[in-house]
Amino acid sequence: MGSGLFRDGKELTDDVLKNLESLHIPDDKAFGWPAWIQDIECPVCPCCKIPMELLYQLQDGLHLNLGLKGGKAFLFWCRMEKTGTLLCQP
Ligand SMILES: [Zn+2]
Repeated sequence: MGSGLFRDGKELTDDVLKNLESLHIPDDKAFGWPAWIQDIECPVCPCCKIPMELLYQLQDGLHLNLGLKGGKAFLFWCRMEKTGTLLCQP
């Protein structure tokens, strides 16, 4: 069973995740890995079928009121096609 988290198209192993825990940022940030509120929902690029990477994460109510009841918005992208998709978790 994998972690379900990806970076540069490769799934992160549990060992890598353990080392990255100290860098976990729950607020507004660019890049890195998503601070999921609910289940992991890594989107896959509709063109090349590779897991998309986090481009930006926004914490509702921190700098913007997104109407997500304290949730988060995640903007993912595929650097190959420059395609993006927005996910929200209230
Ligand atoms: Zn793609």
